[in-house]
Amino acid sequence: MFSKVVTWRQITSHCFSCSRIVLLRNASSSSEPQYDLVVIGSGPGGYVASIKAAQLGLKTACVERNATYGGTCLNVGCIPSKALLHNSHLYHMAHDGEFKRRGIQFDDVSLNLPVLMKQKDDAVKSLTSGVAYLFKSNKVTGIRGHGSVSGPGQVVVTKEDGTNEILTTKNILIAVGSEVTPFPGIDIDEETIVSSTGALSLNQVPKKMVVIGAGVIGLELGSVWSRLGAEVTCVEFLSHIGGTGIDMDVSKAFQKILTKQGLRFKLDTKVIGAEKANGGIRVKLEGAKGGNNETLDCNTLLVCIGRRPYTKDLGLNSVDIKFDSRGRIDVDKNFQTSCKGIYAIGDCIQGPMLAHKAEDEGIICVENIATGRKPHIDYNCVPNVIYTHPEVAWVGKSEEQLKQEGVKYRIGRFPMSANSRAKTVNEIDGFVKVLSNDRTDRILGVHIINSVAGELVNEITLAMEYGASCEDVSRICHAHPTWSESLKEAHLQAYFGKAINFT
Ligand SMILES: Cc1cc2nc3c(=O)[nH]c(=O)nc-3n(C[C@H](O)[C@H](O)[C@H](O)COP(=O)(O)OP(=O)(O)OC[C@H]3O[C@@H](n4cnc5c(N)ncnc54)[C@H](O)[C@@H]3O)c2cc1C
Repeated sequence: MFSKVVTWRQITSHCFSCSRIVLLRNASSSSEPQYDLVVIGSGPGGYVASIKAAQLGLKTACVERNATYGGTCLNVGCIPSKALLHNSHLYHMAHDGEFKRRGIQFDDVSLNLPVLMKQKDDAVKSLTSGVAYLFKSNKVTGIRGHGSVSGPGQVVVTKEDGTNEILTTKNILIAVGSEVTPFPGIDIDEETIVSSTGALSLNQVPKKMVVIGAGVIGLELGSVWSRLGAEVTCVEFLSHIGGTGIDMDVSKAFQKILTKQGLRFKLDTKVIGAEKANGGIRVKLEGAKGGNNETLDCNTLLVCIGRRPYTKDLGLNSVDIKFDSRGRIDVDKNFQTSCKGIYAIGDCIQGPMLAHKAEDEGIICVENIATGRKPHIDYNCVPNVIYTHPEVAWVGKSEEQLKQEGVKYRIGRFPMSANSRAKTVNEIDGFVKVLSNDRTDRILGVHIINSVAGELVNEITLAMEYGASCEDVSRICHAHPTWSESLKEAHLQAYFGKAINFT
């Protein structure tokens, strides 16, 4: 059926109407493209997509401009921040007397920042080189250099030495991720005025740190440096902390707990400028609605106002790719851009900027290319986690969203102070809040603040993906004593009106 010799132009035109057929075709023309798929970017979106594509039989190359694979997540995002969060928490427990209160005595506690940073760097190195190993074992061709699209089915890779390599391919997947959003008028030098990247590698603990933005990354990195001894003030334009999507009950409780830990917050406040003065930085503030001018002096200013798609020098004009008003690449439900055969996933398209969202999009996209199957992602079931202590996690709708949508809901709430495991280990801060459909009992959203919220939220994500009701979760046997019993109890409260271990 596919024995006829065809040219690349014929293949691509066929490809654009039915990529599945072409991928199965074994054309023997000299213009046969080198690859079935070229992925640009090796972040969690790109590297996972590359591996999955190769596992599904596609001849795959992944182009990465950085010296290491893994993108923002592995190099300057999720992984290094979680290493610092974990170890700064242990240091804080030891330094603050928490270990002593648990009967663990020692005389001196001091911080060895270079060693703490080295542990983080080792974790990053091991995971980024792990990607190189996975590429090799899955037969993904990794290519170092800046990739750009020079036409349908063609990617130019500009190498470090300035030479170009042209790759021909049946499909292109753009997974170029995002970059720090700059703050107009404030120059980031990554030494005293830092982005999240610089804040992951400070070589000393600043006496005073100001964080612009009390969203997820600002709170995580603010917590790290506060635990290590800095006096941290987070300035936030909004009236709440924790970014978009967080339930207001959780946000309020979270702010109280972080304040008790030593973080300071200036909400409803905007930064209007910053200048270096007397060896430090003077940050100028005013009320979100104007007025209330004041200044804050600090040694380190962390700019954390978000991230924006990184689509620089990608050659997307050459193939007429469309963007939305926020500079994100427009895609359809199969992640195909306005140019057939060119796909995009992860931080450079719409949706939450999260590693697991990028990964899942990558897998769905290449499954569709390789097999023609059309799996989908339910964005309402993408969990969110803030890895502070306690952690905050949620999936589905917040109470505010349900109110806005006019949905009638029930609330189930269970405090961690009534959970036996939390009590046993003396980590009783927080609660679980369940929102369910008033009529059907279906789970609509679950919001957790406790020591292990980031792990617990996955049980509820699974339940929501299966359309579970609160009764379903409350009837599932949960091991005792575990944190997850708080989920069971909160769902019981939502469905039956009463929990067992709390009145
Ligand atoms: C401090 C911090 C902490 C975070 N913590 C979490 C967390 O705990 N959990 C979570 O889910 N998310 C977290 N994130 C967000 C997460 O890192 C991103 O959502 C995720 O990395 C996006 O994946 P991606 O594959 O779309 O892009 P990226 O990870 O940004 O990867 C894109 C890759 O493409 C490469 N690239 C770009 N252009 C080109 C080109 N033209 N040619 C070749 N290569 C190119 C880049 O060098 C990069 O390696 C965090 C982010 C930050 C900054």
